[in-house]
Amino acid sequence: MPRRYTPIQLKVQPVPVQMQAETAPCPQCREHDVRVLGRIGLRLVFRCDRCRVQFHRAASHAGMY
Ligand SMILES: [Zn+2]
Repeated sequence: MPRRYTPIQLKVQPVPVQMQAETAPCPQCREHDVRVLGRIGLRLVFRCDRCRVQFHRAASHAGMY
């Protein structure tokens, strides 16, 4: 049995509408279309539905905020 994984609940802010279509590849299961969950500052936070991993990535459009 793998150790039980406790998901970390990050305090995220809502994403601007124009960035809600952003997707990123999951670093764990390689799922490609992970949808954006929110953002922390300039970082977009994604959550994989398959393995429930949360990860973040620097926003590609840094000039938007
Ligand atoms: Zn995944």
